[in-house]
Amino acid sequence: MRINQDDTIFATATAHGNAAIAVIRISGSKTFEICKKIFVSEKKNFSLDNIKSHKIYFGQIHDSNGFVDDVLMSAFIAPHSYTAEDVVEFSVHSSSYIINRISEALVYYGARLANNGEFTMRAFMNGKLDLSQAEAVADIIASHSEASHTLAFKQFRGEFSKKISKLRAELLNFSTLIELELDFSEEDIEFADRKDLEKLLQTIYSEVKYLKASYSKGNVIKKGIPVAIIGKPNVGKSTLLNLLLKDDRAIVSDIPGTTRDALEDIISINGASFRFIDTAGLRQTYNTIEVLSIQRTLKKVEQSSIVILVVDITKDTIEDIKNEIAELSEKVEELDKKKIIIAANKIDMLIEMPKGFQQMIEMETVFISAKRKENIEMIEDALLRTVKNQNINDDFAVSNIRHYEALHKAEQAIENIIEGMKDNLPLDLITTDMHDVLFHLGTITGEITTDDILESVFSNFCVGK
Ligand code: GDP
Repeated sequence: MRINQDDTIFATATAHGNAAIAVIRISGSKTFEICKKIFVSEKKNFSLDNIKSHKIYFGQIHDSNGFVDDVLMSAFIAPHSYTAEDVVEFSVHSSSYIINRISEALVYYGARLANNGEFTMRAFMNGKLDLSQAEAVADIIASHSEASHTLAFKQFRGEFSKKISKLRAELLNFSTLIELELDFSEEDIEFADRKDLEKLLQTIYSEVKYLKASYSKGNVIKKGIPVAIIGKPNVGKSTLLNLLLKDDRAIVSDIPGTTRDALEDIISINGASFRFIDTAGLRQTYNTIEVLSIQRTLKKVEQSSIVILVVDITKDTIEDIKNEIAELSEKVEELDKKKIIIAANKIDMLIEMPKGFQQMIEMETVFISAKRKENIEMIEDALLRTVKNQNINDDFAVSNIRHYEALHKAEQAIENIIEGMKDNLPLDLITTDMHDVLFHLGTITGEITTDDILESVFSNFCVGK
């Protein structure tokens, strides 16, 4: 990743495509100098030299060929901007022709196209955000439910960073004292109180473990609760899936810039997200032959927290269903820990509802007709009941794999220190592990960064962020 902070950068911050307005963002020391060349206002006495920060100015953009567009220019004077640099945001008519002409003019006058996430990276480099807050910007943009939105904002507001920084600062304090002891090793002085150090290590250890354990919850909030829809061929799985996805998908695909691939199989019900696993086979509604191998179905069940077993009520007997579940529980470990919902489909073909069905199966059963769209809301209610008891909004949860990995490495190093102290290992060995803990915790907030870390964080952002 090219990290040249001297350049003035620009990018279209809005998604391409049909939209009324596009926003072109420019940041860097030459921002106003460049804008002077292309922005004109009809206002008397207007000059870019005496504009005010956080004000919007109406005017026109001209390039060397003449008029390009009527625009609004929002000005932010350093350091009071997202990047802490001089920033201008042009709201222009969202035409690719207009955007191209403005982009060409910006390049001509000395700006360059921003790299992925470069605005946010500058915000980080200039101390406006720490690294975990910068990562939260991407999570805010990707949030698709109340829970993921709340979690992303908690991280953005620095709740997680504060926790980590505090632990790290306390440990740093001890590490300094221990290093002093090493310097004075011949004199046998103890600067760091061993009891206090042990106590602190235990506190950090349990906090790190707690945060690490929260990852599964955070991941579920961020990505949705994994749901598998399974069943024999022709029972109506894909009809049901399409029905469940239908409403949400219409909304999702209207949001410019959303990655359809990632969001396509997620539905949000009352603020909770559910993610359908491996729906590729189910998509092909024309394919009446079961294309999914049994292995693939089992894998799907293993990855899920909720299993919707679709059965054809006109054909399957209670015996069949019980056998199907027994077969599954033989092959899938801890199936009893997953929530199983039986979707008894095709009730429109029944003359009479089967009596005592639910009691005999002893599992939550919802009678539906996917074809006639009957009782689909009962499936949604059943899904929702599985999260009712989880207070997903209460606590902070780690939702970023990079943070999880750093916590994991920190945890291992802390274990080494605790062991080392028990075994009375020499101090210099213990300090190595202490440095490791400080390093790994520091990478979360960005107190410690390497080019690799920055590369991996910001290359996942899109241009304009
Ligand atoms: P899959 O193989 O399990 O994915 O099943 P499909 O969703 O492709 O459905 C198989 C056939 O059953 C199709 O012809 C559907 O129209 C039909 N089908 C699905 N749901 C219902 C239903 O509720 N009632 C009736 N009568 N037919 C249905």
